[in-house]
Amino acid sequence: MKITTLKNVKNLKNKVVFLRVDFNVALNKGKVAEDYRLVAGLETINFLLERGARVVVATHLGDPKGKIVKELSVKPVALRLKALLKKPVKFIPEVVGEKVNKAISILKAGELMMLENLRFHPGELTNDKKFAKELVAQADIYVNDAFAVCHREQASVVAVKSFLPAYAGLLLEKEVIALNKVLKPTKPLVVIMGGAKISTKAPLITKLYKTASQILLGGALANNFFKYQKLEIGKSLFDADSLAEVKKFYQGKKLASKIILPLDVVVKTRKGTAAVRYLNEVKSGESILDIGPETIALYSKYIKAAHTLVWNGPMGKFEEASFKHGTLAIALLVASRASGKAFGLVGGGETVEALRLTKMEQYVDWVSTAGGAMLTYLSGGKMPGLVKIVSK
Ligand code: ADP
Ligand code: MG
Repeated sequence: MKITTLKNVKNLKNKVVFLRVDFNVALNKGKVAEDYRLVAGLETINFLLERGARVVVATHLGDPKGKIVKELSVKPVALRLKALLKKPVKFIPEVVGEKVNKAISILKAGELMMLENLRFHPGELTNDKKFAKELVAQADIYVNDAFAVCHREQASVVAVKSFLPAYAGLLLEKEVIALNKVLKPTKPLVVIMGGAKISTKAPLITKLYKTASQILLGGALANNFFKYQKLEIGKSLFDADSLAEVKKFYQGKKLASKIILPLDVVVKTRKGTAAVRYLNEVKSGESILDIGPETIALYSKYIKAAHTLVWNGPMGKFEEASFKHGTLAIALLVASRASGKAFGLVGGGETVEALRLTKMEQYVDWVSTAGGAMLTYLSGGKMPGLVKIVSK
């Protein structure tokens, strides 16, 4: 694998760098609620500023669908970035146009400015060449530090690369290196998958099946397998359209040997209480909301033997206190094995939220917030944002 990295750019002094970041953070009452994406992006920004580049930072925020949506302005993000950097951040409330051009022309070496939400412009979403050209017209080089959008065909990640040299930012580079450790794992590789939407997860199970020793399932994802086996799952969440997808993992009635299903689960009973059940004991009217204690014990044996660990998708509805234990137990097991005995990768929006609850995330080798892009990359899907930046 070859990464065309920003680290190899010889002279950045006075160069205008168009830096695409993923600062798509949650806002609360007009303020940044969670700033870890900004913190993660600081390294590349400081690298550029220290070398005297003139930095134009651009991100999307939410999904305004090509229209101006006041609540999705990047301004609060620029303010938080300023506080984190302890340096001025000039916010320009436009994406392209005269104001932007003027601001870039007076930007000095080692200074930084930030554009408005890229998705306020319809050209971003259609990967429009004309828009892309205008976006980077004054830039000397393009740096992509936004791995989370690299599976999308959008102007600031794809079309811009027709107009200027493109490089991987330091964060994007680290993400790619971490994900490749899973694709070429130190064995045994143990994959833990849960969460909700099977359609987004099945390709990853298929892809990692060959190299994995075990794929441990939980969450609503496992319900689809129970349903396929005609077990009673009561009112549990499952995806009726997924059964064809699930069928691929069976030969007749026999589940592929490396796929491991929960032995027991925690249900919400008709009275609303929590109860542990074996799979043949779930009653109609009950919902499976967590993996049970025997399952945790079984999964922990596999996790403790692993040298590479991948975890995506909570083991249950961990947002409800009675059903968080399976997910938190897995989080603790993965974190305690990672950073030493095994290489540990944890990814996915809710999965990372659950990991944070343990306060152990610093022990995980790579915590990915790239969601869909991470799943796409690991499954071998198309990553147009990485073309010209990362090659096999
Ligand atoms: P991620 O974003 O980490 O990839 P998903 O989006 O696939 O994860 O799924 C996360 C959600 O799945 C969580 O909000 C969790 O409450 C829900 N979930 C997991 N297991 C169950 C279950 N058995 N029943 C209902 N919801 C579940
Ligand atoms: Mg999610």
